[in-house]
Amino acid sequence: MKPIQDTFALLQSPKRIFITTHHKPDGDAIGSMMALAHYFIKKNHIVTPVSPSEVPDFLSWIPGIELVLNYEAEPKLATQAINEADIIFCLDFNDLSRVKSMESLLEHAVQPKVLIDHHMFPKPSFEFGMSIAEKSSTCELVYDFINLANDNELIDATIGACLYTGVMTDTGSFRFPACTASVHEMIADLMRKGLQHTPIHEHVYDSWSEQRMRLVGHVLKEKMEIFPEYNAGLITISKADLDDFFVQTGDTEGLVNYPLSIAGISFSTLIIERKDGIKMSFRSKGSFDVNSFSRNYFNGGGHFNASGGQSSQDFIETILRFKEILSEIHPQN
Ligand code: 5GP
Ligand code: MN
Repeated sequence: MKPIQDTFALLQSPKRIFITTHHKPDGDAIGSMMALAHYFIKKNHIVTPVSPSEVPDFLSWIPGIELVLNYEAEPKLATQAINEADIIFCLDFNDLSRVKSMESLLEHAVQPKVLIDHHMFPKPSFEFGMSIAEKSSTCELVYDFINLANDNELIDATIGACLYTGVMTDTGSFRFPACTASVHEMIADLMRKGLQHTPIHEHVYDSWSEQRMRLVGHVLKEKMEIFPEYNAGLITISKADLDDFFVQTGDTEGLVNYPLSIAGISFSTLIIERKDGIKMSFRSKGSFDVNSFSRNYFNGGGHFNASGGQSSQDFIETILRFKEILSEIHPQN
């Protein structure tokens, strides 16, 4: 993969730019995609941001969100946009399988693909890029990209709001180890450019439906198991739970973190029985590597302390298998 600076010559004149991110996009996915979109629009490019699936409600306030094409809802428009594009930017994922049903569209696109991402072990699908696993978020890398292009003065409160969203969500509101001094310096710069941070916290964290709050209550009471001997917690959500609480996209976001608030628990897992299969999320504190764990056992990946995966077995079998693995490997800090 060539350094991202090698794209600057190509971007000298207005281009058609296709920007995309991962399936089930989170704050960093949408924040980084829209920050880059606003920046490129200011540089007179024609930009189409495309999400492989629907944007969750808690991000519907993001400036310019109406520009985003949802591939699942509008595959023809998204296909036309990629066919007409001169260059493709891939943000917050590094493995084409993470765009799910859009994978073959991206795989067969002949235009150069540019990666901006902070996950471990990028696949060799990208001609250019910046891939730094130590970075807090893809939003931090988009900020670095704009600075590398000597365009810091183009960052305004709108771009700042998009960037802040991704950094805030990916650092657990500025608490994870990847939240370095440079991250705080970046936020200070955004604040001097007019960023209003309080409404962003309210949009993202105080916008729950009553049903979502009740789902969390139900799940913590009935569906959370704690294994003190392994310093581990497990939450399981069946299809019936999803139906009973009318769960919407984004409603299960953050649930996996709850067991980590219990003293002594440093490894947490969430297993959800979704319509399209069994989805798993893993989080840890300290030295237990959930990236390797999800790669080794559940066909996934991500970061050292936050990863995801899937299972081809059914819900109950997956839970049993997970518990077997737990008793075999004894995760402990
Ligand atoms: P989440 O649990 O929030 O879905 O994902 C946690 C982290 O792991 C995110 O950074 C996400 O991009 C990554 N991740 C989630 N699922 C997968 C997967 O199936 N494969 C890979 N390689 N990474 C994943
Ligand atoms: Mn991210």
